Parts: sequence; C-alpha cells; structure tokens
Amino acid sequence: MNISAICQACGGRCCQGPIFLRAREMETFGEEKKARFLEHAQVLTAGSTYVLPKTCPYLEGGRCAVWHEGRPFDCTIFPLSFDLVEGELHWHMAPCPLGEAILAGTAEDAGAWLDKTKRLIIDQVRTWTPTERADYEGLSSPWSPRGGGVG
Ligand code: SF4
Ligand code: SF4
Repeated sequence: MNISAICQACGGRCCQGPIFLRAREMETFGEEKKARFLEHAQVLTAGSTYVLPKTCPYLEGGRCAVWHEGRPFDCTIFPLSFDLVEGELHWHMAPCPLGEAILAGTAEDAGAWLDKTKRLIIDQVRTWTPTERADYEGLSSPWSPRGGGVG
C-alpha cells in the first residue's frame, strides 16, 4: 500500500493533538489560517512554540483540509520525528499505521519519503534560532520514547 492510502485508511489519528507549531510557521500562513490555528492553540514557550492540544481544526472528514496549501512542519514530517539533544538529531518513528508500515518495509515509496523528510528536517533545523533550538530541546518530541506515544 502506498503512503497516501495508509493515511487515508487511518483517518488522521496524528491530527488529534498534541500538534506543535512554531511561530515562524504561523507567519507563512495566510491571516485566515493563522487565526483559525491560534483560536485552538496555546502558547507553549515564550511565543516561539504553540501547541494544539486537541483535534486540529483542519481535520475534516478524517482528512487534512490544507494538505496542498501548507501544513505545519510537524505534520509534513509525521510519522518521523526527532529529538534535538545538544545539537544532535535522534530519529523516532511514531507507532501509527504508517510508521509501522515504514519500519516493516511494507509502505511503497517509504525509502524515498524517508530520505526527503530527513533532508527537510536537517535543512529546517539549520535555520532555527538558538531560542527555537532550545525550545525544541526542552520539549522533546511527543512521539519519542522520552516524550510519550501516539494517541
Ligand atoms: S501519519 Fe500515521 S497517524 Fe497520521 S494519518 Fe498517517 S497513518 Fe494515521
Ligand atoms: S494541518 Fe492537517 S495534517 Fe496537520 S494536524 Fe491539521 S489536519 Fe492534520
């Protein structure tokens, strides 16, 4: 099964929170999308990170309504996630249907997706300010063994 079909069958468990958003991502969204996210978000760390504690307002009928027009970074990389510890990346795969299929080698195109997503993360983290890095290091990933598990 391909990645898209696995996620469609799942219905967006990863969209049921918590979902982290960085202030810089908010600035790339249009005013309407930003306002809708903020309506459901809480400030987590000094204005650099927000969290949607419950289901994302853009989960509609089990699918992401903003898939093609820009999603938060954490949505783009999921079910891959990472911890940032003293500047080093430690990879984690969430134990959701897609994460399990990737680890089992049964998700079509998983190799290409993983390569692309790891590059995206490395490029993104390189642009983070010291405050953003410190915030991320402090939070850890909710999907990592240190931070909890997928709900
Ligand atoms: S990434 Fe995982 S939790 Fe999210 S929709 Fe796909 S299978 Fe479900
Ligand atoms: S933006 Fe889309 S992918 Fe991200 S949590 Fe919301 S519905 Fe899910």
